[in-house]
Parts: sequence; C-alpha cells; structure tokens
Amino acid sequence: MSLSKSEIERYQRQLLVDGWDQERLKSARVLIVGVGGLGGISATYLAAAGVGHLRICDSDSVEQSNLNRQILFTAEDIGKPKAALVARRLSAQNPEIEIEAISNKLTEANVSGLASGCDLIIDGLDNHSDRLKLNKASFDLNIPFVYGAINEWLGQLSLFNPPQSACLACLMPEELPSLKPTPVFGALPGVIGSLQATLALRYLLTGENPVSNALLIFRADSMTFETVTFERRPGCGVCGESCR
Ligand SMILES: [Zn+2]
Repeated sequence: MSLSKSEIERYQRQLLVDGWDQERLKSARVLIVGVGGLGGISATYLAAAGVGHLRICDSDSVEQSNLNRQILFTAEDIGKPKAALVARRLSAQNPEIEIEAISNKLTEANVSGLASGCDLIIDGLDNHSDRLKLNKASFDLNIPFVYGAINEWLGQLSLFNPPQSACLACLMPEELPSLKPTPVFGALPGVIGSLQATLALRYLLTGENPVSNALLIFRADSMTFETVTFERRPGCGVCGESCR
C-alpha cells in the first residue's frame, strides 16, 4: 500500500516522527463505540492521523446538555444522530480515509459483528456495562481494547490486549451503579480522549502496550498522573483460566 502525493503532503509533519509508519496506519481498521466527549476526541485524532478505516458506532442524538464537552457538535445539530454527524465532519476533515457510521445501540448480540475485522477497539462510552460488552468481544476476538473513563475531576485509561495482559473484567468485573448524570466538564474528556488516541496510534504503529496491566489515572484537581498496576485474576469470568 503506497501513499499518494496528496497523502504525503497531508501527513508531512507526522512522517518526520521517528518510527512513524503511515502505510501501517492507512491499512488499520478501528472501531470506536461512543462518539461523545471521549470518543469524539479520539475519533478526530485518528481520522486526522490517517487511520484508513474508522467504524463509529453511537445510537444517540445530540442534546443541548452535550454541548459543554462534545465539541464536534453545534447548536444546530441538536436532535440529529451523532454517528452520521461525526462521520460527515471527519470525512470533511480528511477525505483520504473511509468512515462507516453505525447508529445501532451496542448489545451482546451485535458487539462481535461490530468489532469483527478491526485491529483495535476504542471505548468512548459513558457506562461500565457497555464497556464490559466491548471487553468480552476484545478477548473473544483477540482485538486490543483502549479503555477510558471520566468522573468529575478524575479520568483514567488503559489498553487491554489479552491474553498478553489482564482485561477490564479482571480490574472491574461488576456492573457499576451509574451515577446519572455524571458530573463532567469539557476539558477532562478532551485530555483523556487525547491520551486514548495517543495510546491507540502508538499501538497501531508499534504493537507496544506501555500500560499493560496498568491503569493511568489523571487527577485534574491536583494536576497529577499516577499509574496503578494490577494483575490478571485467574478466576476472571472473561479471560480467567476456565475461559481459555
Ligand atoms: Zn480478565
């Protein structure tokens, strides 16, 4: 797969980055589920970087209360489906890539079909129960999974690539009670979404996972980063001994 003259010009500055392999990114397929505060940011940077195929899935439509943080949308978008809006916006930003918009709700029945054929899954979700569905598909299909979550002043992320690493269910196996609405201001998903995009691009380019069995936590109140390590649980219902 070679690059056109236009692609070489578009990606000129990143082609200068040590170890950058644009053709590898061009051949990559990534599923992003949820394109609000977190997923909208990671999808934007993956599209701009030239990841060749993005499959974006979101069943929601834009609401006025999204606009404090979901910066891809305008007041005119209220009531319109997010997946199609994001696909149109990112295609305008980078016409060199393919973007598939899916407005279906994520379910246990459709998650494998959505992830199938992808090289990476990115979590842009706002609830743990859907994240566990993505985590299960990630393990079953052997597709690495970039996790990210935010709440008030705290954001966290990781990259799970079982069987090399533990999975999300090793760390947080249970469905968490959802605090609705979750307190959130726009800059925090901006930070965590950008870190998810950075982790995803780095993984697609090198296959390296610098946060294997580790959770990177950002505290916006003290402006500190912390890495907390954890182990695979042999009894994990997704990646444990009895599941392999
Ligand atoms: Zn596990």
